[in-house]
Amino acid sequence: MTDISGSREIHRLAVVGARVVDGTGRAPVEPATVLIEGDRIVGLGPSPTTGVSADATLIDGWGKFVIPGLVDMHVHVYTPEKWHPELFLAAGVTTVLDLGGQLHDVAAYRAAVESGVRPGPRILFTGPMLEEGEMYAGFAGFCRRFDSARTEAEVDALADAGVDGIKLYVTVRPDTARRACARAHARGLPVFMHQHATWGAEAAMAGVDSVEHVNVFGQLAPPGFWLAEPAKLNPFEYGGWLWRWLSDLDPRADAVRHLYDSLIAAGTVLDPTLVLYAARPGALGDDVGDTSMDDPERTKLLPLLPPAVGKELVGRWAERRAAAHIASEAAKHRMRHAWDNILALVGGFHRAGGTVMAGTDCPNVAIVSGFSLHRELELLVRAGLSPMEAIMAATRRPAERLGRSDVFGTIAAGRSADLLLLAADPLADIRNVGRIERVICRGVVHEPEKLLGGLRRG
Ligand SMILES: [Zn+2]
Repeated sequence: MTDISGSREIHRLAVVGARVVDGTGRAPVEPATVLIEGDRIVGLGPSPTTGVSADATLIDGWGKFVIPGLVDMHVHVYTPEKWHPELFLAAGVTTVLDLGGQLHDVAAYRAAVESGVRPGPRILFTGPMLEEGEMYAGFAGFCRRFDSARTEAEVDALADAGVDGIKLYVTVRPDTARRACARAHARGLPVFMHQHATWGAEAAMAGVDSVEHVNVFGQLAPPGFWLAEPAKLNPFEYGGWLWRWLSDLDPRADAVRHLYDSLIAAGTVLDPTLVLYAARPGALGDDVGDTSMDDPERTKLLPLLPPAVGKELVGRWAERRAAAHIASEAAKHRMRHAWDNILALVGGFHRAGGTVMAGTDCPNVAIVSGFSLHRELELLVRAGLSPMEAIMAATRRPAERLGRSDVFGTIAAGRSADLLLLAADPLADIRNVGRIERVICRGVVHEPEKLLGGLRRG
């Protein structure tokens, strides 16, 4: 076949013969043909009965697998030193939601991709993380402090600027969250929250659409660990606090079930960003080995990362090794048990009927853009989702939460032509999501190796 990667000149494209997992959750179609015109899917049907026009460029899918392009629901496209949009695309991530960045920055990154200057994913964003109290200095560059008396005006200003959702951060209190949610919903925007001051189920009652990380489980802390003012902790201190008592939690306790019920009754989705916890520097030990990617000193990706991210990644791994080295066996045991409980809480929420979405928080704490989402899906399966459900957590579910089900997230006529051709079956082993041969993003065909090769030269 002629080289079509990166070309925007192809009008008609057909992926023929693959087993297609369309993202809706229904059984795969096999062998199937996906018809694409321009940047849209125009048809999906069984290969024997789905005609392909003579002028279409064919992609041979026989013996292969197709899934929708992946969505990472929690990223920070970040500063130029940490921004490589090609990494997302090479990993099959065709849409990202930026959950905290200044409007002019995220809008500029989006413009660079939309104009074709750089290959990259569709970028949706919330603009800055909103804070009503004193901001943590380390993240102030991604935040905006506002006067809670002006909550509605603040949401309106972001809505008028064209954001895709609202991000509430650490110091936002329940009543402010409730007002922000009411206004955001009136403007057709979902609300995402990283909770501290709004505690546990208070976020669901306030109307928050997605709780980020596993902070919502803070409500389950045993009495001796309750925090009088959680918003006084910075995000790293809060993370440390969770790990101090999580190992003692009984994930089958009534309080856990009640929290699940509150979230589910309110329709609040959980985006646990498990890779963030798996990558935590600490005493997990190399035997547990849960990090957002393989040992950076052995991975071929390291030289391709933005230098600032690569340096941080190597540094974090050195910290992890050092911490694992000096930790007592008892401390390691507690940390492993805490980690098992995090997985049990996410799995329990899912089994209770809650909706889980896939996000990574990349490139925070050196989580590698794009590729970390493969690990997130693997961890979601370990938590108890089936491979099909994990794929939905990164395709259909995000589109639903963003009110974009008619645009992306599934493979059907009328949707954006965002799909991945895989060499092996992702339903047999979720890690096969990483075995990507082609990435089609808005009708443009990319080969992961070529995208990465461009970074190598650059
Ligand atoms: Zn984040």
